[in-house]
Amino acid sequence: MRYCKSCLYPETKPDLWFDDHGVCNACNNFASREAVDWSARLEELKEIVGRYRSADGSNYDCIVPVSGGKDSHYQLIRLLELGMNPLCVTATTDDLSPIGRRNIENMKRLGVDFVEVTTNPVVRRKINKFTLSTIGDVSWPEHVTIFTVPVRIAVQFGVPLIVWGENPQHEYGGPASSTTKNILDRRWLEEFGGLLGFRVSDLIGQLDIQPRDLIQYTYPTDADLARVGVTGIFLGYYYPWDGYRNALMAQGYGFETFPQMVEGALANYENLDNHQMGIHDYFKFLKYGFGRATDIASNHIRRGRMSREDGLNLVKRHDGRFPWTYLGKPIADILGEFDMTVEEFVRICDRWTNKRLFVTDHNGQLVKDRDGNLAKKFYDNV
Ligand SMILES: [Zn+2]
Repeated sequence: MRYCKSCLYPETKPDLWFDDHGVCNACNNFASREAVDWSARLEELKEIVGRYRSADGSNYDCIVPVSGGKDSHYQLIRLLELGMNPLCVTATTDDLSPIGRRNIENMKRLGVDFVEVTTNPVVRRKINKFTLSTIGDVSWPEHVTIFTVPVRIAVQFGVPLIVWGENPQHEYGGPASSTTKNILDRRWLEEFGGLLGFRVSDLIGQLDIQPRDLIQYTYPTDADLARVGVTGIFLGYYYPWDGYRNALMAQGYGFETFPQMVEGALANYENLDNHQMGIHDYFKFLKYGFGRATDIASNHIRRGRMSREDGLNLVKRHDGRFPWTYLGKPIADILGEFDMTVEEFVRICDRWTNKRLFVTDHNGQLVKDRDGNLAKKFYDNV
């Protein structure tokens, strides 16, 4: 297994590649920020929001998809500074935590209109259980609706501009920055929304689920998108993105952090809104051999806030621990929401574990400690 020589990302991470010096594209993308003229980008952003602002104030200026987290707070703070009148849209998470609820309420108090769309929990729990077992992803309903719900609302309210947060591809301001071909059509969604692979239509007929149960999971038609002119930008292209800095700013506006480090992470300021997140991150570890702690340590390393050696030691302590609790909620209760036992869960985990990345015994069985934790073969280049 190869690791980035600069951060802690392993070669197994999807969409990761190394340059000739063994440095990953995430590190190189970050380094290329130094050459960016951020004040020019801010002018570009002002031009775009000016172009889409409601001329007579009779409608919202933009849609802001928000979860209530630190980045959502940052997005909203910046848009309010730009004089925008946004409509915030939340697709409720699968197992909303009390602190997540309080942070959503805090965003409303910043002075905005807010729409929360909560999809049918009876249907969603069936999907949680099904996709955990079939594609190793408990959060699939959420991954779909955070993309479909804001776009549906944009069509329904006739608001063309959607302002997303961090952009998945560094050198891309979003469709609205292009003067031609800037509609968020189905092709765009499939490329950026991560809906490739398992599709909404794959659920029809399974588990007693019908099309009428999946309205909010369905992207608007290309004709509806073109009629409203729905388009979008990523704020991460216009402001240098830093989750930690965003958290510090968000706290200044009432955002609440968790009282201690979140399980499996090296932070208390992110992924606070869904109890299923521990399971989601654990499956990333089982499939690719790295978890949330690696993401956070690598972010700090790139920004010079932590040495690679210190980050590696912290990752060894915290990455990929069996998710016995998340935000303090016991795994049995988290699984109980969608009618799964811990034994059943462990069997699914074992089935999704990449056996090449973890220590096995002479029978090929995974070796675990008494707390159910796996042992990685390699934490670094050897
Ligand atoms: Zn790297």
